[in-house]
Amino acid sequence: MSGLLRPVNPDTMRIFARRQTSPLDFTRAERLKPEIPQIPLMDLTSSIDRMKTDRTKGDHTSEKRISPVSAKLQKFSPCVLSWMAGLISARSFHLELRLETMSVPTVRHVTEVLEQIASPYLAASWDNTGLLLGSPGMDAGRILTCLTLTSDVAQEAVETNAQLIVTHHPVLFKPVQKLTTQSVEGAILWKLARAGISVYSPHTAWDDAPTGINQQLAERLGLHAIQPLRVKPLSAALKIVTFVPENSLEIVAEAIWQAGAGTIGEYSRCSFFHAGTGTFQGSAATNPTVGTAGVFERAPEFRLEILCPKNRLETALKALRAAHPYEEPAIDVIPLEPSSGSWGSGRRGVLHQPETLKAFAERCRDVLQSGHVMVVGDGERLVTTVAIACGAAGEYLSDARRAGCDVFLTGETRFHTALEAREHHTGLVLAGHFATERFAMEALANRLQQEFPEANVSASQVEQDPIWFC
Ligand SMILES: [Zn+2]
Repeated sequence: MSGLLRPVNPDTMRIFARRQTSPLDFTRAERLKPEIPQIPLMDLTSSIDRMKTDRTKGDHTSEKRISPVSAKLQKFSPCVLSWMAGLISARSFHLELRLETMSVPTVRHVTEVLEQIASPYLAASWDNTGLLLGSPGMDAGRILTCLTLTSDVAQEAVETNAQLIVTHHPVLFKPVQKLTTQSVEGAILWKLARAGISVYSPHTAWDDAPTGINQQLAERLGLHAIQPLRVKPLSAALKIVTFVPENSLEIVAEAIWQAGAGTIGEYSRCSFFHAGTGTFQGSAATNPTVGTAGVFERAPEFRLEILCPKNRLETALKALRAAHPYEEPAIDVIPLEPSSGSWGSGRRGVLHQPETLKAFAERCRDVLQSGHVMVVGDGERLVTTVAIACGAAGEYLSDARRAGCDVFLTGETRFHTALEAREHHTGLVLAGHFATERFAMEALANRLQQEFPEANVSASQVEQDPIWFC
């Protein structure tokens, strides 16, 4: 049943269904503006039925005669029409169905999508990610991505009327006690705040996301059998279990999802539920939603389970309680044992054919357009297994060694890390911090543009590597 609230495919993103009595505003619904404010349900149902019949027969001529309401439905495929009709005919749900057009997203909408792309769970514990400046309710119709929020980029954002900057490297990384124009960062943030520009940073969550920087590096270098270099156990996750009557199942699940729970890798709004029977007897002082005070009751309920990152637990439980119809909902919070999975930081993989360290390093230079790379190790030695960690990630050298990798690619390291690599006969390629990360901010801009076709998203045009070579 929870699937009813999920968009089926991009074509249906403009369709949503919700209970007429639901107190919730669903994320996508919020940023959708009614194209047809109210369609009589019978009209819509009969229109869908007629169109399904016509399409099954291969008869498209009748579409010319159908009502304006049905005309709005023509762009959808038969399977989508079936889905819509199924919603309407689901007797246990009192649904309204609307056709919608997209409107400008808010900072909150973009933030939610960014958190689906790069789950906050993946961020390092020392990191400062998320919405760092601004207001979730503000418009984010013009979005600028960058690697680092420099004064040049801030000026570009103001001149291009950007409303949201997605910067890989966070601002306000160190605690501040004052925000004035007397520091470089203070001046940047003051300028952005005055212009009403919000700032979001995914940083290490984007480094290690399933489609993030390290994954993109691995794919661009042609690795196969790609897996995390340092597996992140799911021990930081919990499972929330609660018991809800059928007619509240979706409302409660939606509230928990909206609070940041229910994400597994690239999949959001994950849950599991099954039916059972709950029993209870309220005291005379109670006012039970189901049954009568003082009477032993049996009630059909669903056991609902949703994974939740530890750092979202408080918010998720608050949302659960607010959405749950019971006075005293039963809630279990279960810590999960560590289990390996696809979560993790860095990447390692295997080249399709062995190549010399020198050839691999030259390929890194060309693929990343870095102009040069620095290399440690015997250039003629053949390498097959590769470890990758973008940016300044020398601490992953030991992970690369433990994984038996022949070579480790990163942006920059300390001199002593280079010595350590040589001692252990692990090849080391340093391609530059900017070169190993910046390209992914253009990819993120493209991804956000796909997610928000109604917005204008671009990567910074002025940002440059501050280091040059002579
Ligand atoms: Zn970096």
